[in-house]
Amino acid sequence: LETYVSQNNLGFKYNRVKQAPYPGPRVKAAFVTLARNRDLWGLIKSIKSVEDRFNYKFQYNWIFLNDDEFTDEFKRLTTAVVSGETFYGKVPKEQWSVPDWIDKEKAAKGRTEMREKGVLYGDSVPYRFMCRYESGLFFKHPLLDDYEYYWRVEPDVEFFCDIDYDVFKFMKDNNKMYGFTISLHEYEETVKTLWNTTKSFLEEHPQYLHENNMMDFISDDEGFSYNMCHFWSNFEVASLDFWRGPAYTDYFNYLDKAGGFFYERWGDAPVHSIAAALFLDRNQIHHFDDISYYHPPFVQCSVDENVRLNGRCTCDPKEDFTWNDYSCTSKYYYINNLEKPKNWQMNM
Ligand code: GDP
Ligand code: MN
Repeated sequence: LETYVSQNNLGFKYNRVKQAPYPGPRVKAAFVTLARNRDLWGLIKSIKSVEDRFNYKFQYNWIFLNDDEFTDEFKRLTTAVVSGETFYGKVPKEQWSVPDWIDKEKAAKGRTEMREKGVLYGDSVPYRFMCRYESGLFFKHPLLDDYEYYWRVEPDVEFFCDIDYDVFKFMKDNNKMYGFTISLHEYEETVKTLWNTTKSFLEEHPQYLHENNMMDFISDDEGFSYNMCHFWSNFEVASLDFWRGPAYTDYFNYLDKAGGFFYERWGDAPVHSIAAALFLDRNQIHHFDDISYYHPPFVQCSVDENVRLNGRCTCDPKEDFTWNDYSCTSKYYYINNLEKPKNWQMNM
C-alpha cells in the first residue's frame, strides 16, 4: 500500500496509508470529548472504534476539553487516531468551580449524606463540576463556536457495527435536535428536587413548553412527578443551537441558581433529557436503534440479525439492554407509536 507522511495542524508527522478526503458536503459538526490526561488509554480505544466504524469515511473534526492542560503525549496519541483535525481546549476556571451563590456547608452536608447512602460518585466534587459543565457550559467553549452539531464520546465506550451514513447529515436533513442510543432510570437520590425546580421554572416561563412536547416520556402522571427516565448522555448526537437557545439558557441558569448540581448530584443526563422532552417538538428527538453501543455497564446491541449482518457487528444481542425493564426505551417506543424491531422480546 502506498504511504505518505502526513503533517497535521499541530505539526506532528505520521506515516499514513493514502486515504481520499471525503468528497461531499459536510455538516458543521464535530466530536466532543471532555477528558483528563489519565483517561488517555480508555479514550484512545473509544476513538479508534468511532473512527473504524464511522469517522474515517467522513473525517469530522474532534474537540477535546479538559479542566487541566492536556499533555503533549495526550495530543500526539489522540491526533494520530483521528482522521479529521483535532483541537484541544481548556475549561475556564470559573466554569469548573463552586459558584459564589452556593452554600458550601450545605453542599458538604449533601455529599456526606450521599456517601453514607452509597450513591455512585456521591461525595465527589469533580464529578459535580463535570455534570454541571456537560449540562450547561461545554457548548459555550470558543472551539465549538463554528459548529451546529456535536457527537459526545467518552473513554471506554465501543461501537459494534459499521455506520455507513453521515449521522450528522441525518440529524440536519430530518430536523432532529437530540439523538440517543440507551435510556434508563436515574438514581432518585441524585435528583430529589430537580423536578420541583423544573416545575417552578415552567410556571415562570410557560412559553418554553413545546405544544408537541414529550412530557409522557419523563412523567407518568402528566407532569406531577418525574419518572426518572432519561437518555444516557455519554452518547449524544445533538444540536448545539438547542442548548444555546433561549429556553435552555434560561432553564440551565435557573437550575444552576437553585444549586442542585452541588446540594444534590444532578446529572447532565436527566437535565438534558428533561429539557429535550419539554422544549423540543417530540419529532425532533431520535433513537438511534441502528447504532450498537457500549458504555459500561450497558450495551445496546441490535436484536435484529439482519441489521447485525449488514453492519458487520461484533456484539452479542443477548447483552442488549434496550428492551429490558430498567431501560426507558420501550416506553419511548410506546408513547411515540414506533414499531419495535423484530425479536425485541428475546431477552425478556
Ligand atoms: P460516568 O460515565 O458517569 O461513570 O463518568 P465518567 O468518569 O465517564 O465521566 C464522564 C466524562 O467526563 C468522561 O468523558 C470523563 O473523561 C470526563 N470527566 C470526568 N471527570 C472529569 C474531570 O475531573 N476532569 C475532566 N477534564 N474530565 C472529567
Ligand atoms: Mn463514562
